[in-house]
Amino acid sequence: MLKTFNLLIEKIFPPCCIICQQENYSFCQQCQNKIDFIYFTPKLPSLQNFKINFLILGFYTPPLSTVIKTYKYRGVYKLAPELAQTLYKHLKFSKNIDFITAIPLHPKKKMQRGFDQTELIAQELAKLINRPYLPILKKNFHTKNLASTTDEKTRKKLTKNMFSLLPNIEIKNKNILLIDDVITSGNTLSTVLKIIYPLKPSSINFCALAHEG
Ligand SMILES: [Zn+2]
Repeated sequence: MLKTFNLLIEKIFPPCCIICQQENYSFCQQCQNKIDFIYFTPKLPSLQNFKINFLILGFYTPPLSTVIKTYKYRGVYKLAPELAQTLYKHLKFSKNIDFITAIPLHPKKKMQRGFDQTELIAQELAKLINRPYLPILKKNFHTKNLASTTDEKTRKKLTKNMFSLLPNIEIKNKNILLIDDVITSGNTLSTVLKIIYPLKPSSINFCALAHEG
């Protein structure tokens, strides 16, 4: 029913670029070319002890930040395939990836938003690079619990237990492609790496839409 309704809406209002309102794409090629692309690996102190391959599309500035905000906060989940296409077009993914996974939202947050923005992009990207999508992590707390905690000891404990590995996950000798939407300080990624790094995957490739420096 909802699908028919969406198709009808698209017939009456054909999709156009959310930045320039032109062309038949939600994020058109001309606007994509205006992304402030990142051609280097950002030096983040939180990640200095890990060996990972970074694939980050651009800085968190318009038009990329505008598209990400529209996608995430206004629930325009149909942007997921186009954002995955944008990543696929502009970044060089290793040929030997075994599976793709995402840094997940807390289940409650996913329910509130109606979708997990990173998971959707990871699933779309999985189709493009022709590799399986495999959820491996579970988020145990809301990030806002952490933000409102001032006690250093509690903070450390919450951070350490923020994520856990799902049961029966085998990642030894695997080449992982890990997806997040926006990377800022790298603290979230570092928390995840502390879980998966000791399990000795062959390689960890990390891909994000943007870096908010
Ligand atoms: Zn445009």
